[in-house]
Amino acid sequence: MKPETLCLHAGYEPGNGGARALPIYQSTTFKFDSTKHVGALFDLTAGDAFYTRLGNPTTDAVEKKIAALEGGVGALCTSSGQAASMLSILNIAQAGDHIVTASAIYGGTVNLFGVTMKKLGIDVTFVDDDAPLEELQKAIQPNTKAVFGETIANPALHVLDIEKFAELAHGNGLPLIVDNTFATPILCRPFDFGADIIVHSTTKYMDGHAVQMGGVIVDSGKFDWGASGKFPGLTEPDESYHGLRYTESFGAAAYITKARVQLMRDMGTCQTPTGAFLLDLGLQTLPLRIRQHSSNAQAVAQYLEQQKDIEFINYPGLASDKYHALAEKYLPEGTAGVISFSIKGGRERAAKFIDSLKLVSLEVHVADIHSCILHPATSTHRQLSDQQLVDCGITPGLVRLSVGLENVDDILEDLQQAFDAINE
Ligand SMILES: *Cc1c(COP(=O)(O)O)cnc(C)c1O
Repeated sequence: MKPETLCLHAGYEPGNGGARALPIYQSTTFKFDSTKHVGALFDLTAGDAFYTRLGNPTTDAVEKKIAALEGGVGALCTSSGQAASMLSILNIAQAGDHIVTASAIYGGTVNLFGVTMKKLGIDVTFVDDDAPLEELQKAIQPNTKAVFGETIANPALHVLDIEKFAELAHGNGLPLIVDNTFATPILCRPFDFGADIIVHSTTKYMDGHAVQMGGVIVDSGKFDWGASGKFPGLTEPDESYHGLRYTESFGAAAYITKARVQLMRDMGTCQTPTGAFLLDLGLQTLPLRIRQHSSNAQAVAQYLEQQKDIEFINYPGLASDKYHALAEKYLPEGTAGVISFSIKGGRERAAKFIDSLKLVSLEVHVADIHSCILHPATSTHRQLSDQQLVDCGITPGLVRLSVGLENVDDILEDLQQAFDAINE
């Protein structure tokens, strides 16, 4: 079935007289008739939900829907996007190992990999995602366990050359993990271009209404962990399950099963049933919303490009953008709603511009239904000097605009009156 249909029907099929809307199983636990059945649950030979940290029927329905949308064999919902990125790595890397990641990724992921993972003993090399394959190859070490990148990077708005990164990973017997948060499976399905694992912050477009924190990991089922020979955690016995081997017992779903029954069991970063329900509600209209976000943002980007107060603009949907050719290949239907641009005159003028907006709201968020804006130099990056800002690719006048679903004429009018205000 096509994505629009999957968004409505995948994962949950009501029986005769069953609830049309996905029921919320607001229960931490489930009742069983025999110790034999419960024993089978703990041996992983029966698959029912028995404790909500490890699985819940509401969450299970959403996981099946997202797996269907991405074209994967299974998915695992998590408490946030950060938890999804963390578990995606910890599932295959441990102290003494190493990962390679594109530099243009979400700031929270930069901290996770560069600070916290390092403390856990997992080393990381950040690579220039625009570098040619031969250059990228130099970052791979004998202990490297994964290659990571982001389809549309937040906030740099680089478009990842997924096929190039897949070639780098596979040429070295490694999986490629892609954060597909901004694109969503409606605009890009990274598995079609060679990615092996996908992560999302479902807090963003998938929910889309800014009501739920969540993340998800999706397994393509295509990576051959056994052939690679680098992943004993998947191919060798797990003593915490009586010596079970994930690849042997779960085949194509080895990775996602291990993430659930071992890491989610031990770390507990699970989605809630009500969070899963809200996420599902968002997913039902995702195709309509993401296309409208893209077309509104395209119009806003074209308007901004003409403004004399703009130093530069990043939006891969613009023909003049450095990543336009990659966007045409990987994101032919649109490049989502986030734009970044720099206002001439630095911090002060950018701040005045934002303070003058009436409809577009100042928020630490992106990718939701309301248009919102953020000024890194006075918020997330306010401790940095102007020079330090430039060094991390952020100018003092840079703003990140997330174009919502208001009528685009109203958004444009609000931006215009704010430009007028900074020129008074
Ligand atoms: C927001 C975001 C995350 C982190 O997700 P949370 O749900 O906030 O934990 C990860 N990746 C990208 C691309 C994001 O935009």
